[in-house]
Amino acid sequence: MTSSEIRQRFLDFFKSKGHTIVPSAPIVVKNDPTLMFTNAGMNQFKDYFLGNKQSPHPRVADTQKCLRVSGKHNDLEEVGVDTYHHTMFEMLGNWSFGDYFKKEAIEWSWELLTEVYKIDKDRLYVTVFEGDEQEGLPFDQEAYDEWAKWISKDRILKGKKKDNFWEMGDTGPCGPCSEIHIDCRSNEERKAIDGKTLINADHPQVIEIWNNVFIQFNRKKDGSLEPLPAKHVDTGMGFERLVRVLQGKNSNYDTDIFTGTIAEIEKMVALPNPSGGLLGESSTKQAIALRVVADHIRAIVFTIADGQLPSNTGAGYVIRRILRRAVRYYYSYLDYKQPLLYQLVKLIAAQFEQVFPEVKQQQAFIEKVIKEEEESFLRTLEKGLRRMDDIIAASAKSGIINGKDAFELYDTYGFPADLTRLIATENNLKVDEAGFENEMKQQKDRSRAATAIDTQDWVQVAAEVPVKFVGYEDLNAGAKVIKYRKV
Ligand code: ATP
Ligand code: MG
Ligand code: MG
Ligand code: MG
Repeated sequence: MTSSEIRQRFLDFFKSKGHTIVPSAPIVVKNDPTLMFTNAGMNQFKDYFLGNKQSPHPRVADTQKCLRVSGKHNDLEEVGVDTYHHTMFEMLGNWSFGDYFKKEAIEWSWELLTEVYKIDKDRLYVTVFEGDEQEGLPFDQEAYDEWAKWISKDRILKGKKKDNFWEMGDTGPCGPCSEIHIDCRSNEERKAIDGKTLINADHPQVIEIWNNVFIQFNRKKDGSLEPLPAKHVDTGMGFERLVRVLQGKNSNYDTDIFTGTIAEIEKMVALPNPSGGLLGESSTKQAIALRVVADHIRAIVFTIADGQLPSNTGAGYVIRRILRRAVRYYYSYLDYKQPLLYQLVKLIAAQFEQVFPEVKQQQAFIEKVIKEEEESFLRTLEKGLRRMDDIIAASAKSGIINGKDAFELYDTYGFPADLTRLIATENNLKVDEAGFENEMKQQKDRSRAATAIDTQDWVQVAAEVPVKFVGYEDLNAGAKVIKYRKV
C-alpha cells in the first residue's frame, strides 16, 4: 500500500463511521499566544473541549500537519538519530465532541488496525492509565474492560500519569489516555525475548503509533476534578509510523514518504554508494545527515507555505534554527558546500500536491526564501566551524564550552544555541547554558520569545481577533509582506 492509500483509508474508514473529514489547520498558529506551531491534531478544536464553542459536527477526522520543535513537545534532538521522531509529521486523528466515547473509540481503532490495515494482532499491545492515588485520579477500568474484549489481558499494560493522563494546562479539560504500541522486531528477536512486553523507550523497534485520549474531567483551580457534562474523544496516530509498519520497514525514512527525497539528496551530493533511500537503522554520520536533511526540509517547506518566514525572532527563529541545523549536517557530513535544501522543494511540492496543495502553489517563492537563507548561512559557516574547532580544542580540559564562546558563535557566525550544543555533544563537551543566556541578556535578546512561550498545549486566554493566513503579497518580489485577513 502506498502512503497515499494508507492516508485515504484512514479517512474513508472514519467517514464510514459517521465522521466529517475536515482539512488540516495551518501548521503555523497565529491567533494563540501560547502556541507557535500546531503540535497535535486537537489544537484546532480546543474551543470545543473548553466549551467555548459548539462543533458543527459531533464527529470529525483529518490528517493534521504538526511540528514538535519547541515548548512542551520538542523532539528535535531525536530526529535523524532515531527512526521514528520527526520535526514535522502528519497526525491522523478522529474526534468525538460529546458524542461517542471509549467503547466506540477503542473498538474502531482495533478494527482499523487489524481488519482494514491487517496488522498482526500478536504485534500489538496497549496501555491504560493505572490511576494516581496522590492526585485523586482513578484507574481507567472502563478503557481496560473495552480493550479486554479485543486483546489478551497480558497485552494491556498499565501506565503512569506521565504517559497516560492528558491535561491541557494546569486547569481545564483532562482525562486518561490509552496508547497503542506495535512490536516491529523480527520474529527471531521476538522469540529470543519471548514473553517480555516492551514499550518504545525499551526498544527502537517497539513504537507507539496511536494515542486515544478520553477527555472526561475538568480540573478546577483548587486542583480538584469534576466530571465533564460532555465527554470527548481525541486521538492521534503518527502517519509516518503507521506507513512504516504497513510497508514492513524498520525505519520511517525507508517508506515511500522519504525514500524519494533521500535518493535525490544522494544523487545531488554524489554519494559513492547510494542507498536509494534505504538507510535502515544505520547510525553512521552520513545516514543521520541524510535523515536529518530529509526531515528538516519538510518542516521548513510546510511552515513557509503556511505563512511563517525564517527570521530572527519567535516562530521565525525556530524555522531558521531548523534550516541552519540541516545546512550544517549536509555541509559537514555529506560534503556539500552549496545551497541544497531549496533544490528539494519541487519534489515535496509534487509529492504532496493532492493533500497539501499550498506547497505547489507557492513553490517558486518557497525555493527563493530557502535559497537565500542557505546562502546567507553558508557565508559564515566555514569560518564558524573553524572557530568552533579552536573552541573545542580550548575546552577539552574543562569539558565545557563557556558562555562567551557559545555567544560568539551565535552572534558572529550565526550558530543557533542548539547547533553549538549539538556540535559540542558530538565532541563530548557541554555548553555553559547559563553563561550563554547571560551573554544573550546583555545584548538585545532577540530570540527569547522563541523559548519563553509555548510551555504547554495552551492556556485559556481572552479571544484575540482571529486571523487567517491567505498568502504572501508579492511572490515575485519576494517581499516579506504577509497577508492576513480577519475571520
Ligand atoms: P512518543 O512517546 O513516541 O514521543 P508521544 O507520546 O509524544 O510519542 P503523542 O503526543 O501521544 O506522542 O502523539 C500522538 C501520536 O503522534 C503518537 O502516538 C505518535 O505516533 C505520533 N508522534 C508523536 N510525536 C511524533 C514525532 N515527533 N514524529 C512522528 N510521529 C510522532
Ligand atoms: Mg513524544
Ligand atoms: Mg508516548
Ligand atoms: Mg502518546
